[in-house]
Amino acid sequence: MIELPEDRAAELAALAAEAAQCTKCRLAEGRLNVVFGAGDPDADVMFVGEGPGQREDEQGFPFVGPSGRLLDELLGEVGLARSDVYIGNVVKCRPPGNRDPRPDEIDACKPYLRRQLRLVDPKVVVTLGNFSTKLLLNTEMGITRLRGTAYEWWGRFLVPTFHPAAALRGSARVLEEMRYDFGLVESVLQGKLRVSEADSSSEIEIGPSAPDPEQLDLFG
Ligand code: URA
Ligand code: SF4
Repeated sequence: MIELPEDRAAELAALAAEAAQCTKCRLAEGRLNVVFGAGDPDADVMFVGEGPGQREDEQGFPFVGPSGRLLDELLGEVGLARSDVYIGNVVKCRPPGNRDPRPDEIDACKPYLRRQLRLVDPKVVVTLGNFSTKLLLNTEMGITRLRGTAYEWWGRFLVPTFHPAAALRGSARVLEEMRYDFGLVESVLQGKLRVSEADSSSEIEIGPSAPDPEQLDLFG
């Protein structure tokens, strides 16, 4: 779908307003703010993190804590600023105590991410860490094996990389590998990598639904 930039911005704002009232999963109970997403609605690069942490929950914006500072540094190294990109998360509300988001929460929140991806319509999607990578690539394979490659994905590229929190906790190697992956993003933006023609008009679809708990009970 071709959206004019001004329509995109308006539609994203309308979707954000809708999400701000959302009670579709239990994460609504503990949140201070719904962290819908932020950045350029017309961005060529869209990042997808996992979910808001404490700082994001307090401020209502994605990646405003230590992970965000590292993200800014990596962006700067490939000539990008925060304002050039769009950033969203798999779940828009903070899981209590920063626990992992659960499959039914991811499933409940997925329509917002799908709409964001379709509206921003970026040239390259960067998934940060296991949750967004597994959801968007529809795989159980871990980030360590998946990263290092730009995958053709719904008529564009998807570059999976580590979550910045992993680099902050981990070895220098993790950071070096993230730098390599950001280099892939730069290559896409410079037109050094191109998607095949046949795949260039698809509407983004993401992940299968979590198993229906009632169905599981039937067989469990
Ligand atoms: N970690 C995430 O996955 N998302 C944020 O917005 C902040 C930290
Ligand atoms: Fe709604 Fe998503 Fe928040 Fe759950 S995490 S309440 S689905 S916005």
